[in-house]
Amino acid sequence: MLFDKRKITVIPGDGIGPEVVSAALKVVEASGVDIEPEISLAGAGAFEKGIESGVPDETIESIERTKVVLKGPLETPIGHGNKSANVTLRTLFETFGNLRPVRELPGVHTPFTGRNLDIVIVRENVEDLYTGIEYMQTPGVAQALKVISRTGCEKIIELAFEFAVAAGRKRVHCATKANIMKLTEGMLQHTFEEIAPRYSQIEAKHILIDNCAHQLAMRPEQFDVIVTTNMNGDILSDLTSGLTGGLGFAPSANIGNDVAIFEAVHGSAPDIAGKNVANPTALILSAAMMLRHIGEGEAANDIEQAVLVTLESGVRSGDMAGTAKPSSTTEFANAIISNLGKESRTSGARDFRALQMPESSTDVQAVETKKRRVTGVDVFLESTMQPDDLAADLNEICSGTTVALQMIGNRGNTVYPVDEGARRVTLVDQYRCRFMKKTRGDALTNAEILALLTRIGEAHIWHHVEKLQQFDGEDAFSRTQKK
Ligand code: NAP
Repeated sequence: MLFDKRKITVIPGDGIGPEVVSAALKVVEASGVDIEPEISLAGAGAFEKGIESGVPDETIESIERTKVVLKGPLETPIGHGNKSANVTLRTLFETFGNLRPVRELPGVHTPFTGRNLDIVIVRENVEDLYTGIEYMQTPGVAQALKVISRTGCEKIIELAFEFAVAAGRKRVHCATKANIMKLTEGMLQHTFEEIAPRYSQIEAKHILIDNCAHQLAMRPEQFDVIVTTNMNGDILSDLTSGLTGGLGFAPSANIGNDVAIFEAVHGSAPDIAGKNVANPTALILSAAMMLRHIGEGEAANDIEQAVLVTLESGVRSGDMAGTAKPSSTTEFANAIISNLGKESRTSGARDFRALQMPESSTDVQAVETKKRRVTGVDVFLESTMQPDDLAADLNEICSGTTVALQMIGNRGNTVYPVDEGARRVTLVDQYRCRFMKKTRGDALTNAEILALLTRIGEAHIWHHVEKLQQFDGEDAFSRTQKK
C-alpha cells in the first residue's frame, strides 16, 4: 500500500470529538512519532456550510493524499436530509472491512472480568442489507436486497486471515446464517472454507451466527477473531464492546482498498460534549491501531502499554469512576503520556506487523461459468385473491405458452400447490409465482418471459421479476419450501 507515513488527515468531528481527538493526538505526538496532521472538516460543521454530503472537497483531497484518517465521531444533524458524513466517507473510500478489537482492561469491571477476553470482530462493511436497496412492493409489503458478492467475501475473509497472521492470532471463526440463506450467507461460508487452507497456521471454524451470539454470552473466551457479514457484524461488535466495558473503550479501524479510517466506536455523546469529561481511551486505542497500520508498531505498543498502566494505577475517566474522583479528559490523556515507556503488569506488548493487503483492481469482477441457462422465472405480483383462485387464473394465462405454473409463494411459504390438510398461513397481497419451461432442459428466452409478463399484466399488477438461472448445471436460486 502506498501512503505518506507521516501526514495524516485528522477529522476532529462533532460533540466530544474535538476533545478526544486532541487527547489522542497529544498522546501520539508524545510517543515520538513525527506525524503531520492535516486538520479537516466533516460532519455538522460541513452541513452548516451547506455541504450536502457532510464532507468538503478539501477533506476528500487530504484523504486522497494521506490515505490515513484519524476521525472523531460525526453527527447526522436532523433537518439536513438523510445524508450521513460517515456513509459518505465509507462509500467514497470503500472501507470494506471494519476491525473492532476488544479486550479485558484492568480496572474496567464487567461480568466477564478475569476471563481474559481478547476478541476482534472483522465485519464486512459495504455490502449486505446495508446497501440500503429497499422497495415497497405493495402498499403493505416492503423488501430489502441483501447483496453479497464473491469479491466482497474474498476481500473480507482475506482481511480477517491477514489480520490474524499480522496480530499473531490463533483462530478465526466465520459466523454466518448459511443454514437459512444458503446463497448469500452461504457464499461467505464457502469462500471462508476455500481460503482457510492458505492460512494453515490459523485454526479456521465456521459457526452459525445465532450460536455465536449464545457462545459469546456463555463462553466468550473461546473466540479470537470472528469474521462476518455486515449486519451480523454490526450487532456482534456492539455485543463484544459490551462484554469488555462499553463504548468508551472500543476502538475501530475501517480498512479500504487504499485508505484506512481509524475512529472510536462511540458517537458524539452530545450530553457530555465540551465538558472535558469524555473518556478518550477508545480514540487513543484507535490512534494506536493507526500507528501500527503506518508501520509505527513500536509506538503503538508503547501507547497500548501506557493505557494499561494508567488503568492499573487507578486513574479513572468519568464513565468508569463509580464513587471515585474521576479524571478529566485532559488529565486522563496526561496520565497516559506520563506512563509512556512503562510496561503493564497485566498484559505484555504484542508482536504485530502492519497488515499486508492485496492490491485492488479497477476491473469489473466476475465469476466465470462454462454453461448457463434460464430455466424459469419468478413473477412477483400484487393480488388479494386466494391462492387456488390465483393459480386457476395463472394456469389459464399459461395455457398455450411454453411455461407452466410450478408454485405460488406468500412470505416464503408455498401456498399452491399444498397438501390436503396443510396448515393455513397468514396471507398478504404479494405473491411469488414460479413459472418453469414446459420442456425441461430447454432455455427460457427473453421473448418468452416478456410474452408471459404481457399476459399477466393484462389481469394482475406485477412488480418484480427474477430469472431462475442455472450456472454450470447448478440451480442459482433458492428452492421453494413447504411449511
Ligand atoms: P453516543 O454518542 O455513542 O453516546 C451514547 C452515550 O454513551 C453517551 O450519551 C454517553 O453516555 C456514553 N459515551 C459515549 N462515548 C463516551 C465517551 N467517550 N466517554 C464517556 N461516555 C461516553 O451515541 P448516540 O447518543 O446514539 O449518538 C450521538 C450522535 O453520534 C448521533 O448523531 C449519531 O449519529 C452519532 N454517531 C456517530 C458515530 C460515528 O461517527 N462513527 C457513531 C455512533 C454515533 P452518558 O449518558 O453515560 O454520558
